[in-house]
Amino acid sequence: MSNTNKNPYKDFVFNLPENEFKNLDEAISMRKNFEKYGATDFEELAIKLKREPICPKCGSKFYVKHSHTPNSKQRYQCKECGHRYNLMSNSIFNSTNKSFDTWITYLTLMTFNVPLEMTEELCDISHPTAMLWRKKVFSTINDYQDRINLRGTVWIDETYIFDSSILHDNDFTSKRGLSKNQLCIVVAIDIFENTYAVICGHGKPTKKRIYNALKDHIEDNALLIHDGEKAHNELIEKLHLRSEVYKADSKSNDYLLHMALINNLCSWIKRYIYRFVGMRKENLQSYLNWFVYLLRVKNSTNKWPKLERILRHLILNEGTFTK
Ligand SMILES: [Zn+2]
Repeated sequence: MSNTNKNPYKDFVFNLPENEFKNLDEAISMRKNFEKYGATDFEELAIKLKREPICPKCGSKFYVKHSHTPNSKQRYQCKECGHRYNLMSNSIFNSTNKSFDTWITYLTLMTFNVPLEMTEELCDISHPTAMLWRKKVFSTINDYQDRINLRGTVWIDETYIFDSSILHDNDFTSKRGLSKNQLCIVVAIDIFENTYAVICGHGKPTKKRIYNALKDHIEDNALLIHDGEKAHNELIEKLHLRSEVYKADSKSNDYLLHMALINNLCSWIKRYIYRFVGMRKENLQSYLNWFVYLLRVKNSTNKWPKLERILRHLILNEGTFTK
C-alpha cells in the first residue's frame, strides 16, 4: 500500500455518516467473499455447490417453486407434504441472523481451535451464540469417524486424560483408584495417515473394550504396530492382524523411531483435548471427531483449500441442529 494520505477514498470514507459507513463495510466484505468463495451469502454458495432443495419435514426431493422470501430467496413447496421451505431450511445455517462474513470468521477461527472467548470477541457474537454454533458444526461430523477404515500398516496406542467431570458424579468416591479417574482415548493411524480416535471408557481398557473400539475400523490382515499391551490381543486374533511390537522405552531408538507417528499423534490429541477437560464424555468425543476431521482437511490443503472444503461440507450437509 502506498502512503494512506494519498488514498483517494480516505476523505470520502471518513465523511460518511455511520449507517452508510456500515453499509459500505458490509459491501466490501461481500466483495472480498465473492472473490474468495464465489458467493456473498449461504444461499448463493449453496446454489453454486448444487445443494438440492430437500423437504426438511418429510425428506422428499419433489417440489414446486413457490414464492420468494422478503429478501428475495426462492421458496419451495413440497409435492408430498405441502411444507414450504427454502434452500437452507434443512441446514445448520437455517434462520441464522448473522452475516456470511461473521460465519466465515468464526469457522476460520474454529479451524485453529482457538478459545471460544476469542471467537466471541472477533465475531462480535454472544457466548451462547458461540457455543451454539460450535454444537451446530459438530453435529455435522457426529458420524464422521464411523466410516473410517485403516489399512496396510496401522499403529495403535492409548492415551489418558484426567476426567474432572467425574468429580460431579453422585457415585464418585475418593476410594476409586487413580486410573479409574482417567479417560482412555484409543488412537490409531495408518500408513496413509488416516486417523481414528475414540474415547474408550475409564482406566486401562480390557481386551474386549479395545476390540469393540477398533474392530470396525481396521482392515483384516493389516500389520499392527503397537507396544505389545495384552489388551490388544483379542483384536489381533479376531481380525487376523500381523503384529509388530515395540515396548515403550524412551531410551530405545528403535522404539522412538518406529512409534514416532503414533506417539506424536497421541501427544497432539492430548494437548488439544486438555483444553476441554471437564466436559461431558459425549462432548469430548465431538471434539475428537472435529480433531480427526480437521487432520483430514489439513492433510489435503494442497488439493483443496481448508476453508472451502469445510464450507462445502457444511453447506451440503442435511440437518438442522436442535438444542
Ligand atoms: Zn415434505
